[in-house]
Amino acid sequence: MPPEPTSPRPDRVRARRRPGIDYDGVPTSLAATAVEPGDPGYRDARSTYLRGGHPGLVLRPQTTGEVVDALAFARRHRHLPLGVRSGGHGISGRSTNDGGLVIDVGALDRIEVLDPTRRLVRIGPGARWRDVAAALQPHGWVLGSGDHGGVGVGGLATAGGIGYLGRLHGLTIDHLRAVEVVLADGSLVRADETEHPELFWAVRGAGANFGVVTAFEFVVDELTDVGWAQLAFRVDDPARFLVDFGRVVEAAPRQTTPNLILNGSGVAQVLAVVASDDPEVVLSQLQPLASIAPLIQQQVVITPYAELMTMFPAAPHRGLGEPVSRSGLVTRLTPEVADAGARLLADGGVHFFMLRSMGGAIADVDPGATAFAHRDAAFSISAMGRSAAEVDRSWDVLRPHLTGSYLSFDSSTDPDRVHQAFPPATLARLRALKAELDPTNLFRDNVNVVPAPEPARSPA
Ligand SMILES: Cc1cc2nc3c(=O)[nH]c(=O)nc-3n(C[C@H](O)[C@H](O)[C@H](O)COP(=O)(O)OP(=O)(O)OC[C@H]3O[C@@H](n4cnc5c(N)ncnc54)[C@H](O)[C@@H]3O)c2cc1C
Repeated sequence: MPPEPTSPRPDRVRARRRPGIDYDGVPTSLAATAVEPGDPGYRDARSTYLRGGHPGLVLRPQTTGEVVDALAFARRHRHLPLGVRSGGHGISGRSTNDGGLVIDVGALDRIEVLDPTRRLVRIGPGARWRDVAAALQPHGWVLGSGDHGGVGVGGLATAGGIGYLGRLHGLTIDHLRAVEVVLADGSLVRADETEHPELFWAVRGAGANFGVVTAFEFVVDELTDVGWAQLAFRVDDPARFLVDFGRVVEAAPRQTTPNLILNGSGVAQVLAVVASDDPEVVLSQLQPLASIAPLIQQQVVITPYAELMTMFPAAPHRGLGEPVSRSGLVTRLTPEVADAGARLLADGGVHFFMLRSMGGAIADVDPGATAFAHRDAAFSISAMGRSAAEVDRSWDVLRPHLTGSYLSFDSSTDPDRVHQAFPPATLARLRALKAELDPTNLFRDNVNVVPAPEPARSPA
């Protein structure tokens, strides 16, 4: 259906337009859904979950063809920041900005079963993980994502996806079989193991640098009910607690994936999934965790996985300011790492310190198989605080122990971050592909892979 003709915006709306944007040249296909600063819908469109923003224009394509149109418009505005938004939960990727463009693909949120015998599912980038879980549950299926159902498919499934089923089923990207991507030049390509395999490799870990993914095809797993535990501990010795937590997780069966939130005031919270609906299995696998330190609270239930994804209800995004977050990976919780973690907490510069368990099926995948290459990591560690100076001061004690970082949890724009996210060989491969597919670096408002320089020409 052709879009409704749009009436010209009143003067009071035009008065709030930002410089450098050809508002009157917005493609016809996008004009009816675009939001600009004076529009009534701007309050709900300008910010993301964690980040406040004042973009000059939010384009909201409703179809893949409209994503192509939006990128053509973005190419004419290369002087402006360009945010790509799916679910708006970005920490590293900028899906809002000040005075720039945002392409919001939230409307591309369809979830459809392509082949029930293979459990092959096609999901739009705008779907939220709570909707994915709800759609798969009636089939007795799950697709592990992260720990927050409001996160969008687009941002998470182009970076990794470290979640409660990670040790059993791997990262979210490990379930990908194909993607459809609109590239910087506006071409729409399908990438899988045989068609554009290098792009398919790159999307699984560094996707934000290569285009706008408009569809993901995943093979999902069979599972419905899981054991869900929330355990709170009194912690007198955080370093000791961290070592014991690491030891228990390493020894735990893959069905169990625990996350840990630790604060500086002597309380630890373990949130764990045991991928079984058998209470005996659940309790026996939780027992070693429960014995780490004195429990001050405990709750264990058997619940549909989809229920876990509804823990955080949907609400309009009203982020303010800039989030400050740091991210690191470790291969073991050694006494040295644990000691550094305890000193970080004691320093007081972070208000949120979290470890997510990895290993298991995540480590089964060859590091060269996806652009997410840190397959030997046993834990992802992240910390948040008020100011970059304070967080960095505290985080510095941990830095020497880190083997890399998960790019999704780091808010810094420091060009060095890309070296932490990708080992040298991975980064070189990404930069070569970037030079081919996005040589002018249109997709740069993320942990940016800079295009490799052109090889020097030999003299004629
Ligand atoms: C509260 C919270 C909890 C989280 N928990 C976890 C967790 O447990 N595990 C985990 O792995 N991650 C977790 N994350 C991190 C999350 O996966 C990333 O921030 C992710 O980028 C968010 O995706 P989004 O689509 O919601 O974000 P958006 O803000 O919409 O996008 C973030 C960035 O992703 C890129 N991007 C978005 N859509 C596309 C697309 N269609 N094509 C190409 N690139 C795109 C862009 O660079 C964009 O700037 C969490 C984040 C938050 C805020």
